[in-house]
Amino acid sequence: MRTLASFCKTLLPVIALFAVPAHANWLQEEREMMGTVIAVELWSPDEAAGQRLIAAVFADVQRMDHMMNPWNRASELSRINREAAQGRITTTPEIIEVIQRALHYSRLSGGAFDISFSSVGQHYDYREHRAPDQAQLEAGLANIDYRAIELQPNTREIHFTRPGLQIDLGGIAKGYAVDRGIAILQQGGIEAAVISAGGDSRILGDMGERPRTVGIRHPRKEGEFTVLIPLADTAISTSGDYERFFIEGGVRYHHILDPTTGKSASAVQSASVLAPLAIDSDALSTATFVLGVERGLALINSLEGVDAIIIDGAGKLHYSQDLLMRTHPGE
Ligand code: ADP
Ligand code: MG
Repeated sequence: MRTLASFCKTLLPVIALFAVPAHANWLQEEREMMGTVIAVELWSPDEAAGQRLIAAVFADVQRMDHMMNPWNRASELSRINREAAQGRITTTPEIIEVIQRALHYSRLSGGAFDISFSSVGQHYDYREHRAPDQAQLEAGLANIDYRAIELQPNTREIHFTRPGLQIDLGGIAKGYAVDRGIAILQQGGIEAAVISAGGDSRILGDMGERPRTVGIRHPRKEGEFTVLIPLADTAISTSGDYERFFIEGGVRYHHILDPTTGKSASAVQSASVLAPLAIDSDALSTATFVLGVERGLALINSLEGVDAIIIDGAGKLHYSQDLLMRTHPGE
């Protein structure tokens, strides 16, 4: 029997061959934004037009970053966190769209995905190795509840019905920015491109002669990949406990929190989700990470056109139903 991993390993030499743009019309640029590296790669017969589109994508990502950055006091998101508990406030269409989608996934995941995790999450500082104390944890936990986020999409209004509730879009905003970037490229006539924002990528088209292979990092061996998958016309997001973390007293404190405990979710080491749009793969990878193998796969298997690869606490791989059928036919 051939596993997906062994199937993918046979592709390694091919990937190495195609890692460098093989054609002058492949344009590529990377910039640091949204707390990560944003990479845009596209094929354009007209180099100047391609460069203009790349610049337009970065300008848009920058705008989203300014709007949704919870650490920047001047951002629209910070204003919401300061004012939305006092009454209804009007905000941007982009924030309304992202929060609407976030609430959709909160309902689907039974609260495993919850942007109000930040009521506790704001007290973590992974660089400074700081976790909330007991009082912060208890007070914050009482304020994690996506049902207390009220949206009026037609009037673009938002209101928090709990005074201490804080939100953070870190589990969904990068996917949204990637989708917007792809839309800009499509409107510009581009048919083959890849945009990635840290662990969130979307591939447009089949990349012609050099199919894109996306690697899922080994959660415990830096620089190594557990799985390599050739992909076309899809988004893929990975949530891992190795991105932003520190270890203290044998406990791994990392950036994905279980909203029921306010502590780092510990059921799995990594969750990757494939979906047509990156906003969906992004939110679902975070949700699946929190839910763990069984409940995570049940959620993914209930969604049309969505797949997942989960690496559990022992390093074992688990695939969603459709992926299993494609890679292990007959099982
Ligand atoms: P990355 O940001 O590394 O790509 P994820 O997409 O999994 O990884 O997002 C992790 C981010 O999601 C955290 O940094 C935080 O901003 C946010 N987050 C953490 N826990 C939750 C949760 N339970 N629900 C929604 N968002 C979360
Ligand atoms: Mg995510």
